[in-house]
Amino acid sequence: MEVKFLIPTPFRKHTGNSDTVIVHGQTVEEALISLTEKYSPLYRHLFSDDGTLRGFINVYINDNDIRYLEQGRTGLKDADVISIIPSIAGGIDVRLPDLSQEEILRYSRHVIMPEVGMEGQKKLKAASVLVIGAGGLGSPVCLYLAAAGIGKLGIVDFDVVDVTNLQRQILHSTENIGRSKLDSARERISEINPHVETKAFNTMLTSKNAMDILCDFDVIIDGTDNFATRYLVNDACVLLGKPNVYGSIFRFEGQVSLFDAKRGPCYRCLYPSPPPPGLVPSCAEGGVLGVLPGIIGTLQALEAMKLITGQGESLAGRLVLFDALALTFRELKLKKNPNCPVCGEHPSIRELIDYEEFCGVQSHQAGSAQKPAGRDNKTEITPKELKERLDRGEDIAILDVREPVEHEICSIGGKLIPLGSLRQRMNELDPEHELVVYCKTGRRSGQAAELLRKAGFKQVENLVGGITAWAADIDPKMARY
Ligand code: ZN
Repeated sequence: MEVKFLIPTPFRKHTGNSDTVIVHGQTVEEALISLTEKYSPLYRHLFSDDGTLRGFINVYINDNDIRYLEQGRTGLKDADVISIIPSIAGGIDVRLPDLSQEEILRYSRHVIMPEVGMEGQKKLKAASVLVIGAGGLGSPVCLYLAAAGIGKLGIVDFDVVDVTNLQRQILHSTENIGRSKLDSARERISEINPHVETKAFNTMLTSKNAMDILCDFDVIIDGTDNFATRYLVNDACVLLGKPNVYGSIFRFEGQVSLFDAKRGPCYRCLYPSPPPPGLVPSCAEGGVLGVLPGIIGTLQALEAMKLITGQGESLAGRLVLFDALALTFRELKLKKNPNCPVCGEHPSIRELIDYEEFCGVQSHQAGSAQKPAGRDNKTEITPKELKERLDRGEDIAILDVREPVEHEICSIGGKLIPLGSLRQRMNELDPEHELVVYCKTGRRSGQAAELLRKAGFKQVENLVGGITAWAADIDPKMARY
């Protein structure tokens, strides 16, 4: 059989810089032997002294790992493609760092396990992991990876610690409210393990900076909370050939997987396009149980450690769904989509795109102040304007489209009809009467206003910034959430 080997970058100096080599053989073993006969220096990189394949070398026939086939005895067909995948931060030409006496003692519960051992611990020290987002998922990821002795931890975030973060973002503490999450994270990490080098990127991840930031790290961990950044992280990882440890959370449910386009599907193979803006509520709107990001983020940290030490069965090609209320894990098989626009056979995305546009995100900066003042085509109202008009005793109906639990926390009065039941309950409102709609931030009420206008309501205005803006501008004593 004539088969093609794909040669990984670190080995190419032994194949005269060729990235592919054609050989003949009936089985994987025969093909490997003919490859190493052709390029003899490769032998010692691929095989141990006892003639077995080295532990950090994985061999794939087309998309299948030979460990799950018949290993070296796996038969070959004409035109099969064999990939040699060395584990990251391991082996070839990478001299593993030494561990000091203090480090050996610190990591002794790792070092005494044969699956980790001195070599595994050195691999962790040699490895670099980039965590995107120092929030709910990023917290356990940073804490556990720092404790475990990852050599370099990069963190991308541009937010400051807010009191509403503390219910789940255990990297940050009460005294750090108002400080940058990066400063808070760095301090906490160095308290846990001073051997870890942290690299902080105080920026939003964008199409302009993503490739530069991601390229220096072995493993990327996606702890983002919005679709635009998720697609950006995915595409950058595919283009750079980096593994992307994915996690997402909402209310009581979480998802985890490993997207590694070199050996399995990517995020776009799973979700080719994002949901329309507003369809899937954010954690800020829908809430999230505090422990949930702890569980999902910890699984992400675990997956990163398995990848680095080359142990266990990776989550590539598997999506794990966690339901905290039922306490169940379900697993779905994921397939690589041959038509995937970024990792498929004929990719249309060859460089990073505009992800805000791709996800249909509109700028929230469109202030109402610039809008024409004519009452008839006004679609928004600021808290200040509304307050003034109510104080003048103007006859305006007010509609809260949040959920009853939110209405219970705080309200500015008016009728409560949650957005989800507005279509059915519209008849409870007078379409001739001027109506101001509000929610927490102005997003859901924007949709509600649109819905009402389409249904023939004469004058509907959305309260800009929602009750959050009202609390900030009009009523500082109001409870916020
Ligand atoms: Zn894909």
